[in-house]
Amino acid sequence: MSPEARVFFGLGANLGDRRAALRAAVRQLREIVAELRVSSLYQSDPWGMTDQPPFLNAVARGETALTPIALLDAIQEIEHDLGRVRGKRWGPRAIDIDILLYGSEQIAEPRLTVPHPYLTQRSFVLRPLADLAAGLTLPDGSLVGELLTTVDQSDLRRIEGPRWAE
Ligand code: ATP
Ligand code: CA
Ligand code: CA
Repeated sequence: MSPEARVFFGLGANLGDRRAALRAAVRQLREIVAELRVSSLYQSDPWGMTDQPPFLNAVARGETALTPIALLDAIQEIEHDLGRVRGKRWGPRAIDIDILLYGSEQIAEPRLTVPHPYLTQRSFVLRPLADLAAGLTLPDGSLVGELLTTVDQSDLRRIEGPRWAE
């Protein structure tokens, strides 16, 4: 049995019943990772392609024995299951699940970059990540709580505490 890695996922939705989609994603993530915990729920303005509805975002954390690529396959299956249609990068979607961190690994493969490349620039990732792990150090030595002070949080609104997923 391979050792368990601590993983963090970024969750987002901006089509349909966004909260229901995020709850369904959390339910399915519980099937593939142990000890799942979720952040508070946030609303944010779209990033990259701004002409689309606002997002709901959260971060989830868990323990897994899956390899990084097996984990990517599993989350893409969940996205597909929840009705995600492959569309534009940064475009509108019923559900988006990204791997933010996989232990302290740095991965650069065609299908997978970890830590997630935009992690340090996105308030809608850093803020919920800090809910779960403000003291966490990224593989490059930067501290999540400190990175959070470097991004603009003005468009970010906390909607609900961590019980939203129960
Ligand atoms: P962003 O990655 O900037 O948040 P996005 O979530 O809109 O953009 P998608 O269209 O969901 O991008 O995914 C495009 C591809 O990104 C996926 O097919 C996947 O292979 C790849 N990818 C690379 N690194 C990761 C990662 N850490 N987590 C999830 N997907 C990743
Ligand atoms: Ca994403
Ligand atoms: Ca994605």
